[in-house]
Amino acid sequence: MKQYFDEIGINVTPHQLEQLELFYNLLIQENEKYNLTAITDKTEVYIKHFIDSMIISKLDLPYEHKRFIDIGTGAGFPAIPLKVMYPSIEITGLDALNKRIGFIERACREINVDAMHLIHGRAEDFGQDIKYREKYDYAVSRAVAELRLLLEFVMPFVKVGGHFLAYKSLKTKTELDDANRSLLLMQSKLVDMVTFDLPGNFGKREIMIIEKIGKIDKKYPRKPGVPKKSPL
Ligand code: SAM
Repeated sequence: MKQYFDEIGINVTPHQLEQLELFYNLLIQENEKYNLTAITDKTEVYIKHFIDSMIISKLDLPYEHKRFIDIGTGAGFPAIPLKVMYPSIEITGLDALNKRIGFIERACREINVDAMHLIHGRAEDFGQDIKYREKYDYAVSRAVAELRLLLEFVMPFVKVGGHFLAYKSLKTKTELDDANRSLLLMQSKLVDMVTFDLPGNFGKREIMIIEKIGKIDKKYPRKPGVPKKSPL
């Protein structure tokens, strides 16, 4: 599989490749029990889950020793591949589905990455908790919601001056047009949008780099379900 990392220019060590191999085996082994991934073909998992998650390493941003949170991490994407790539980061995975959190705990043990912090619950609740609010240098999130909703889920966790790296594909322009008010209320500014071609012609990935420029009104995030019912 190393050729795909080489193709896109992501450096991985033999040890990191071993960890990803163990993660792949566990993902497939546990998939039926936990419904973790629709993709099971090995090449596709490596490209669409692992390399896709690691693609932010191609951005010119400092990650070592920073605090990350992955909102709606599911089976650990992008959190686990990021932790494999950058062992020095402190990363928290949050998801509303407890069984997926259980899978991540086991995966971290078995592939031998330092434990991630895991939170079972809804972003709307934990974004109001002072233990987590404005505590992260970076938030990441993939395949969770359209941008205007996502900003309300994610931006409360980000420190002022920190960044949200939103994994997006297709419809980015429409999502952005719909998110003007949400960007404003979430004190957020789109800094850049970078498109990558995944190796092996597996499509494109767009990363939106969104900076938090000020404190957010305490009434956000609203209660669970409200952002979806009446998006900003
Ligand atoms: N990020 C993973 C990936 O890319 O494979 C999982 C994507 S999955 C389609 C969406 C995940 O977001 C689900 O695991 C779901 O439980 C979680 N989720 C959706 N809304 C959420 C919320 N408001 N708070 C916490 N988790 C949420």
